[in-house]
Amino acid sequence: MDNYNIETICVQGGYQPENGQPRVLPIYQSTTFKYDSSEHVGKLFDLEEEGFFYTRLANPTVDCVERKIASLEGGIAAMCTSSGQAASLIAVLNICSCGDHIVSSSTIYGGTTNLFAVTMRRMGIDVTFVSPEASIEEIEQAIRDNTRLIFAESIANPALVIADIEKLALVAHRNNIPLIIDNTFATPVNCRPIEYGADIVIHSTSKYMDGHAVALGGVIVDSGNFNWDNGKFPGLSTPDESYHGIVYTRDCGRAAYITKARVQLMRDLGASPSPTNAFLLNLGLETLHLRMERHCYNALKIAQYLERHDKISWVNYPGLQSSKYYSLAQKYMPKGTCGVISYGIKGGREAAVKFMDSLKLAAIVVHVADNRTGVLHPASTTHRQLTDQQLVEAGITPDLIRMSVGIENVDDIIADIEQALAKL
Ligand SMILES: *Cc1c(COP(=O)(O)O)cnc(C)c1O
Repeated sequence: MDNYNIETICVQGGYQPENGQPRVLPIYQSTTFKYDSSEHVGKLFDLEEEGFFYTRLANPTVDCVERKIASLEGGIAAMCTSSGQAASLIAVLNICSCGDHIVSSSTIYGGTTNLFAVTMRRMGIDVTFVSPEASIEEIEQAIRDNTRLIFAESIANPALVIADIEKLALVAHRNNIPLIIDNTFATPVNCRPIEYGADIVIHSTSKYMDGHAVALGGVIVDSGNFNWDNGKFPGLSTPDESYHGIVYTRDCGRAAYITKARVQLMRDLGASPSPTNAFLLNLGLETLHLRMERHCYNALKIAQYLERHDKISWVNYPGLQSSKYYSLAQKYMPKGTCGVISYGIKGGREAAVKFMDSLKLAAIVVHVADNRTGVLHPASTTHRQLTDQQLVEAGITPDLIRMSVGIENVDDIIADIEQALAKL
């Protein structure tokens, strides 16, 4: 499947039925798998044979979706998780322990900011946030001896900053640490970070990949490209006594990172997806390429309309030529960015709230990146835990409206915005 174009992988990747088997990926809604001998089960535990024994670790439905996503991203393997938050947590914990440090872009999803700044700090993993505008020298200054990774979002939610992936990969690799990219908003249809040097790619599949807003999920994709055996990652390059002395780099080769994530962390943390949710995710993936095209088309039209409107003070959409991220967007995602745009209404916070309450077709929802157009006021919702200073660092102003443009007819969405603006 890897040799096919991305659209074909969306539709047919991951599951190739044999003669007489179901054409559509079946839901294996079973926690358990039956074997004839204890010896066989022992071999499964020893990773000497491939197979399924308990759905917390692996399941045939989930496995097919993981294979599809790995091909979409150009990675060697993937592991699905119960949510995007679980993917971020496991992606970092897999290579960091108490006493380690990470460097992250400051413009990231609010939930990830909390995870890094509060929960991980409590676990003894420190974080330094750097501005997305930081120069190579400035990023390098944030890196310490105990730094274990650099983290950024390809398109930041909700700041819509585009990461300079090659620059971040250069700094990371110069310091023998991996680059982890959260590619949720761009999706592999619009951007494949591994091609630009990212080592690990993660997603909240709850967004465009699902697309229908029906199933929470996350995924971690391993490029297989990073050399973990450089002294900085003893968890991967020395025996894991909790898994009968396995040395991931020695015994799993290029799949060291993703194998450890599964057999050690998924085993212990248990943030696994349900087979039914994996089935729903797969349905979403089958149309991802079509939906992304329409999301981007609609979002650009609306951004251009808002840019001309005299009640709008500013519009931020990396697909607009006026955006300071336009050239980075053209470089990393020439087919389009995403369906999310942000803008400010003249009159600030109060006008923003009144405008949102007047919308009829676009609903007020916390979710983004699904088929239906939705709006949100981050300063009073998703990012309300952040201080004013953190809000500024995350690229959020009090008047910012985040609009997740759906795949409805764009004229209907514009008419809805028009009537709501007329009420101000
Ligand atoms: C939503 C989101 C997450 C968290 O994912 P959940 O599935 O909600 O847990 C992480 N990163 C980004 C960029 C997101 O948009």
